[in-house]
Order: sequence, then C-alpha cells, then structure tokens
Amino acid sequence: FPMATTKETNATKVPAIAHPLAEESSEIASNIAYHARYSPHFSPLKFDPEQAYYATAESVLDLLIQRWNETYLHFHRIDPKQTYYLSMEYLQGRALTNAIGNLGASGAYADALNKLGHELEEIVEQEKDAALGNGGLGRLASCFLDSMATLNLPAWGYGLRYRYGLFKQRISKEGQEEVAEDWLEKFSPWEVVRHDVVYPIRFFGHVEISPTGSRKWVGGEIIQALAYDVPIPGYKTKNTISLRLWEAKASAEDFNLFQFNEGQYESASQLHSRAQQICAVLYPGDATENGKMLRLKQQFFLCSASLQDIIMRFKERRSGNMTWKWSEFPSKVAVQLNDTHPTLAIPELMRLLMDDEGLGWDEAWDVTTRTVAYTNHTVLPEALEKWPQAIMYKLLPRHMEIIEEIDKRFMAMIRSSLNAMESKLPAMQILDSSNPLKPVVRMANLCVVSSHTVNGVAQLHSDILKSELFADFFSIWPTKFQNKTNGITPRRWIRFCSPELSDIITKWLKTDEWITNFDLLSGLRQFAGNEELHAEWASAKMANKQRLAQYVLHVTGVTIDPNSLFDIQVKRIHEYKRQLLNILGTVYRYKKLKEMTVEERNKMTSRTVMIGGKAFSTYTNAKRIVKLVNDVGAVVNNDPEVNNYLKVVFIPNYNVSVAEILIPGSELSQHISTAGMEASGTSNMKFSLNGCIIIGTLDGANVEIREEIGEDNFFLFGAKADEVPRLRKEREKGLFNPDPRFEEAKQFIRSGAFGSYDYNPLLDSLEGNSGYGRGDYFLVGHDFPSYIEAQSSVDEAYKDRRRWLKMSILSTAGSGKFSSDRTISQYAKDIWDITACPVP
Ligand code: PLP
Repeated sequence: FPMATTKETNATKVPAIAHPLAEESSEIASNIAYHARYSPHFSPLKFDPEQAYYATAESVLDLLIQRWNETYLHFHRIDPKQTYYLSMEYLQGRALTNAIGNLGASGAYADALNKLGHELEEIVEQEKDAALGNGGLGRLASCFLDSMATLNLPAWGYGLRYRYGLFKQRISKEGQEEVAEDWLEKFSPWEVVRHDVVYPIRFFGHVEISPTGSRKWVGGEIIQALAYDVPIPGYKTKNTISLRLWEAKASAEDFNLFQFNEGQYESASQLHSRAQQICAVLYPGDATENGKMLRLKQQFFLCSASLQDIIMRFKERRSGNMTWKWSEFPSKVAVQLNDTHPTLAIPELMRLLMDDEGLGWDEAWDVTTRTVAYTNHTVLPEALEKWPQAIMYKLLPRHMEIIEEIDKRFMAMIRSSLNAMESKLPAMQILDSSNPLKPVVRMANLCVVSSHTVNGVAQLHSDILKSELFADFFSIWPTKFQNKTNGITPRRWIRFCSPELSDIITKWLKTDEWITNFDLLSGLRQFAGNEELHAEWASAKMANKQRLAQYVLHVTGVTIDPNSLFDIQVKRIHEYKRQLLNILGTVYRYKKLKEMTVEERNKMTSRTVMIGGKAFSTYTNAKRIVKLVNDVGAVVNNDPEVNNYLKVVFIPNYNVSVAEILIPGSELSQHISTAGMEASGTSNMKFSLNGCIIIGTLDGANVEIREEIGEDNFFLFGAKADEVPRLRKEREKGLFNPDPRFEEAKQFIRSGAFGSYDYNPLLDSLEGNSGYGRGDYFLVGHDFPSYIEAQSSVDEAYKDRRRWLKMSILSTAGSGKFSSDRTISQYAKDIWDITACPVP
C-alpha cells in the first residue's frame, strides 16, 4: 500500500482489496484502501483527509450501486405505477453521513477509517454541500426523496446538474458578497454519468404544417441532455432510488472544425458555449432579456429531457406487449410539479403525445391531465411566475400554440357551461394580454387548469389558495384542491445531526422505531416532567450548544457563552420573513441593557442572537438587513458593559451543513413572518423536533406545530392572517399609531449608533409614507410591541430551568406529524395513487 504519507504507519497495514459489498469494518477498510489506490483521482502518495473522503465515498457508492441496480430491475419487472418528481431545485447538502447512516453502517465505517488512521468526523467535513437549490423548496424536494426511498415507493426525482449551485456568501465590511460555489471543483463521487441516456432538446425554430394539417416543431438549435444519476438510499431498506440530474451538451457535429482552424474560435464552438450556459448556474439573474431567456431554457430543458425519459421508460416496460394503449400512461406515470418552475412539462407532454406519438388533442389532453399534479409554494404575487409571451413564442413556438389552445378551450368551457363565471375570466385566463405592450403567460393558471390535483403545503396556505389565490378555480373544481402539510426527514434532521438526543429518545421510548414511525414521539409526553430525563436532555442540548459555540468561534471569531439562551433565526433573508423585526427587537434590547444598572442587568436572561441566511444578489433591502445585523453585532459584541448579557452574531454562508450544526444547538428559534405570507416553512419543524421552542406568528406550518405541541409551549405574537388586509389599509390611510418602543429602536439606528452606513432607506420602508411605496407592507410596526412582549415572556420562561426543559421535551414529543414520511405517504395515496414496491 504505497500511497500514505501523513498516515503511512496505519494505512500501510491495510491491504488494498476490492470488496464492493463489504459490511465488516476490516473489509470496508480494504475497500477504501483499494479506491484510494486504484481510483486515480489524486497522486498516489497521499492519503490526507481529502483523499480519504473520496475513497470512502467511492466505497459507499459500491454498496449503493448494487442496491440501486436491484431496485431498478425490481421496478422494471413489477412495472408499478411510478412517480416522477420534477423540481428545479434540490438542496441535498452532504451525502456521506446520510448514506452510511441509512445503510446502518456508520459504526463500521468509523472503525474502518480508524484502521486507516482517520476519524469519520473529520472525513465527512471534507465533502462540499450540493446546493442545487435556494432554500425551503429545494430542501423539501431532498427530504421527499429520502422519504420516497425509505417508504419503498417507486419514485424518482428529476432536476438539473448546475455547474455552480447556490452562491457562497462572504461577509465583509460592505455586507454580503456572492462568490460562485464550485461544488464540482474536484468532482462529486456520488454521481454516475449515464452515457447511454441522452435526449435532444430543441430551442427556437418554427412550426411546420403538413398537407394533412399535422404540426411539427422544426429548425432552431438542438442541445443534448445527458443524464447524471445520484443514488438516494432509503433508511433500513434495500430500496435505492435515483435523482436524475440533466446536463447540457452540444454534440461533436456542432463543433465547426473548419472555422476553428481558420482561427474563429468563438464562432466555431458557439453551440458548445450556449449549451454550457444552460446548466451553468442556479437561478441566473433575470433582470435582462437574456437572463429571462436563459431561465426559460433551463425550465424547458428539465421538462423535455425528463418527459422524453419517462416516455422512453413507459414504452420500454411495455415492449413485447403489442396491445398497450396510451390511455394506460396515467395508470403508470404520475408527474409532480414542484411549484410552477416545471410547468412546461404540460405543453411538452401534449406536444410529445400529439406530434411524436400521433395522438389527437382530446386523447393527449386526457392523458396529460390525468398524469400531472401541481404543488403551489407561494401566494406572494411577485413570486407567481409570468413569462412574457414574446420570449415564449421565440423560444418555444409550438408550446405557445398548445398553451393558446388550452386557454381557448378553457374559456369556451366556462362560457358554455358556467355563464356566471364569465366576469371572472380575465383573472382566470392563462394568457394575460391586459397590458398589450407586455402580454404574459400565467404559469400558475396553466398548472391549475391542466393538473388533476393542486395542493398547498400547510393547512393555512391551502385554505388561502382556496379562498383567495385560486378562489375562482376552486368554485369550479372543488375536489381538485388538497392540502399536504410539508415534512422533514427524521434521518438527516435528528438521527444523524443530533445522535445524542436521538439516543435519549430511543432509550426512553425503548425502541428506535420512532425514526420511521414518527407518531411514536408522542410517547415522550409522559416523561416531560421526569427529572432523570431532564438531566439527560439538558446534557445532550449542552453538548450540541458547545459544538455550535466552537463553530461560531471558528467562522466568526466571536466567543459565545453556551450558558446563554441560544436564539436563532436562519432562513433566506426576505422582508416578509422579517429578520428586520428580529434585529430591531435586538437593538431595543441592547438599548435597554445600556440604560440599566448593573443590578438590573444581572437579573436579565443572557442571550446570544444568531441570524443567518443568504440575500438574493439583486435584493437591495435584504442585503441592507445582512449589513445591519453585522453592524449591530460589531458594536454589541465589543461593548464590555453589555456583552455578557447579549451577543449578536451573523452566521455566514447558511446552508444545509451549517443548519445541521445550528439546529441541534438551538433553544429558541424565530419564525416571525407576516401572517399569511409564509406558505409553510420547514425549518420551524426541524427546530421543534430538536427540542427548540418557537417564537412565531400564526403563519404557515407554525399554526399546526402550535396545535401539536400545545399553545403553552409556543411564544405567539402578531397579527393574524385575516387581519392583515385591514391593517394594511389602515396603515395606508395613516390610521396607525406606532408604539414608542418601535420608534425608539429605529431612531437609535438612525442616530448612527451602529456606524455611519445610511440605514435610512431601509428604515423608511417601515414608515407609512415611505418612498418604497408600500408603507410597512410587512407590518413590522404593528407587530413590534407584541413581539417585544413575547420576547419578555421567553426571558422569564428561560429562568425556570424545569419549565424550559419540559417545553423542550414537549416540542420534540409534538413533532410526530412533521415527518416527510407522513407527507409523502399522503401524496402517494391521495395524489399519485402509488404503493410501496420493496426490493425483496
Ligand atoms: N435553507 C436551508 C439551508 C435549510 O436547511 C432550510 C430548512 O431547513 C431552509 C433554507 C428553509 O428554511 P425556512 O423553512 O425557515 O424558510
């Protein structure tokens, strides 16, 4: 074994032998050594943690590939109805801990690495996060994949293989800076390229009409979609499913060798560079026409490649059967659209069925509408996708014809059978030409008209869809609308990120079945007052807090006290999520602490406020909020009078791996969006599950979390969703009387207490007459006093250790509803009509 330098003594003792199905730690060690030696990614004389990580991952992949192939073969033989989850985002995070955990092999891998002179904890840190998503929506897709595999469901995910995922956030004196995150810099050991799975994807061109009247999309340019598969292992099952990510490529024929030899390098490889652009970045800026075109290309690329693949598989599984019919397609295929981003799957499926397979409109429409279902994730008007018709005609001329026809037929249906709805048509139409200069396609309307089921992601959100956003559609199709409250995977979000707490739960419940049967968590309720459990619980939480404190010191240089209350708000920075309310409350706390005597201060609960999250690169106010948090931290943390009672830390570069450290160490977490604006939230579920108490509004899934864990264990404040429209109107009319504490906090910032940066534009957005135009649209002013009061109740509750620990245990005990296993079982039964297909 010639490769070791740093770890030579241990590594040389282990023979390098391929053991693809290794289970014993010594065989695993040999297999890792084998990969280090014969998978030639690095120079042979090294076996540092980084090389050890890659070799370990490749050894895990050996095991997964075996299961993966068996799963695929089994599905192929049984030919069950299968779900395809289409999502532009997957926030996968790291894979190693999860994979060996799901395989039940963490201990064996830790031993094997020890034999090779490494520590598993250090090795897993070498992996880069796969951040092919922005936030909640993408992480949800990843949790769903874990549950689909664990529940043995015949289901796959489809997405895009972005070269650069979500940007890396750096914090400087100027605030946030975005840096490209190169997750593929070395390579990802978890993906397998399928050179035999390639589909042509057309863009631009025109529609040709044959003498018989049939239509065909021709011309334009063709880019190839190449499949990269990522294995998704289920927990304690052989089933291992696929996340298939498409990469864009041009073919060799598109490389103009003649031009190249003439020195015209750029034009020689034009199509190659256009292909490269498609999967270059997640969410390219869309302020420009080019940017819009690129995003639309991405969406179509995902939809077309995935549907061609789905149809190919459907046909492959019917080969040899001469009597199959297209009408069987919906009994074999369910397509779920994760938000409107993959809406083009609808006209693309219609096109493939009509133009390539020769079906008539009615039959193609019947197949499509019985196949596709749509999940809505937002009611924010600015987040509802609308594509300029001009761009759509240019890029996808045939799809625009199909969309026009869907719209025409939908209107005709309403006019002929639902006269009373006629006045509602302008708002329900798919094509919105009310602004003749900028006609658009409303993607959500296209989804609602064409899907058999539309679901929201928390009860309150689903109710709002029915009563507001899609009220008119609901009146025609009441049975089309469902709720599927989001969930999170118990494996990643407690079992693996907080093994100490998991072991305590297992000990008290006398079983580890709760990991797959989350309702069992309620069994903890009977022990919520038990002192022995309190002691164990407190010690596990303290260990997690200490680990978090070390992390904070490492990434920010700020020392925080694990005995202080750890108060965390981490999520994308957005005005509706109201990090501004948090920091204003913190500024108010700081000012009051400054005004207190030492005796008074000594009675206060000492707090560490941590805020983290990325701001979209062009979202000015969000970036100002990031800067403000950092500026407040710089003053507070260096104020010797106060910094024993308050610390304020901005956690840089929030991502899944950071969440896995923060959430287990949290005690209070803030989910404080303006009511009615957060569809569900999922980090709220992760925090509660980890015994963290929520301070929050009645918004999204907070409502259901509070129901489950009990109102005494939730710090509630703020306006309710149904009061918001009235409060906004009052604000506009100048009928709002701001609380003096709110004015004081803003004034303190305006006075320059946190540096010379001009925060007036940000703070002006909270004033009724702001130039921002919406006059505290997010109601920070209205909710400020009740927020401050709820925070005082938190301080009081924290002083009572027993009470706090009981609340913490009850939070975990009440989290049973929020497993993504429950969510996915409901999708499987109520929307997809699929059943488990376990590999024997
Ligand atoms: N970003 C990351 C990295 C996450 O892990 C999560 C959820 O855990 C989110 C965003 C979504 O957070 P929230 O539900 O608070 O919006």
